[in-house]
Formats: sequence, structure tokens, C-alpha cells
Amino acid sequence: MQKIVIAIDGYSGCGKSSTAKAVANKLGYTYIDSGAMYRAATLFFLNQGVDLTNKEELIRQIQNLQISFKKNPHTGKQETYLNGINVEEPIRSMEVSSFVSEVSKIKEVREELVSRQQLMGEQKGVVMDGRDIGTVVFPYAELKVFMTADLEIRAKRRQKELQDKGQKVTLEDIIRNLSERDEIDSNRKESPLYRASDAIEIDTSFLEFEEQVNQVVDLAKEKIGHYNKTI
Ligand code: C5P
Repeated sequence: MQKIVIAIDGYSGCGKSSTAKAVANKLGYTYIDSGAMYRAATLFFLNQGVDLTNKEELIRQIQNLQISFKKNPHTGKQETYLNGINVEEPIRSMEVSSFVSEVSKIKEVREELVSRQQLMGEQKGVVMDGRDIGTVVFPYAELKVFMTADLEIRAKRRQKELQDKGQKVTLEDIIRNLSERDEIDSNRKESPLYRASDAIEIDTSFLEFEEQVNQVVDLAKEKIGHYNKTI
């Protein structure tokens, strides 16, 4: 059975990553969190004190950036590694969250990370979530999903996630961060966030988690069947 590429894009905090992860699990596909790559790059630049306006330094520094994903053998959850160090927790901090969209605007950063993402999806059988997956990274993805949800509902979900990890952040701060990121991500010059014309929109505001996962899995099964009939 030939495998397909599933691209999931959408606004910050719509549940793209958790949905993509569960869909990949159900289909036996590889899940790739492209946002984690931009977050890891941001953490690296912050730690190294890289001057983001100095393009030459930036291009040189990006080459020193090794990003990989590994499954934690105890929890079974995929975690992000930066130059061999597990950075799954620090990349989710509010500090990184408030800086990541500035880093993601930079053309040179996008070019490098997009080419790495394309390489990861070369063999198909991947579910990748982000902002430009269906438009730039995999414009020929067999299934494209665009997720949306009401801002306050997204913020409440994100607050619970952070609380579960022991981080206390006010709802106002989360709403501000999500809307700022949406604004920058949607209006940047380099591959802005928008719904690809052939993407299927799913509003997750009033969906149970299982429902949104099943909707994507059903769409995927349909596409996989169709794809295997036509090749
Ligand atoms: O998906 P997540 O919210 O972790 O992404 C963090 C940030 O990374 C986004 O707000 C956006 O600025 C950037 N990003 C991007 N393109 C992607 C994935 C994420 O610009 N494909």
C-alpha cells in the first residue's frame, strides 16, 4: 500500500500538533512537528545571542543547528533534540513562544528548515503540521487540512496544557501571545499562513479531541484508497 503525505496547517493553539500526532499513530505514519524546528532554532539563537540582523552570521549559525526527534522510551512521546540535547521543555516556554514568530519571518531560516522538512517527507508516510506545509513545504500533499478554532477556546486549552506541565501563565498573556503570533505568521512576507485552496477546513472549537482525530483519519483513508487506485 503506497503512503501519502498529510499536511496540517492552521492558527496557533488549534490542536494541530496533538491531532497530527494521533493521526500518525493511527495510520502508522511518522509525525513531524515543524513548529518544534522553528522553536529549536529560536532557542539556539537566544542562547547563542545571535544577531538576527547579521545575515552572514545567521546563515553560518544555521549550519550549526542540528535538530532531531526521538521517542522517549518511558512516555512513548516524541521529543525534540537540539545538537544532541533534549530541548522539548525549553522550546515550549513563553520566552521562546514570544520570540519564535520573529525568527520564523527570516527568509534564510525558512529556506534551511523547509529543505530539511522536504527531505524528511521524501519517502511519504508523514503527517507534518505547521503554517506553510500545504502551501510551500508539500504543495502536492495528497491531503491538506486547515485547522481553526475560536481564540478564547484555544487559549484555555493552551493554559491547561501549560498548567499540566507546572507552568502558570494568565489567560490574558496566552491570548496576547496566540493573537500576536497569528498576526505575524499571517502577514509576513515569506510564506505567510493561509489556507491552501485545496485544503479542507476543520473548526475544532466544539469538537472533542477524538472527533477531530477521526475526521482527519477518515479523510486520510479516503485519500489513501483513491491514491492507491490511481497509481
Ligand atoms: O506550531 P507551533 O505553534 O509550535 O509553531 C511555533 C511558531 O513557529 C509559529 O507561531 C510560527 O511562527 C512558526 N512556524 C512557521 N512555519 C511552520 C511551523 C511553525 O513559521 N511550518
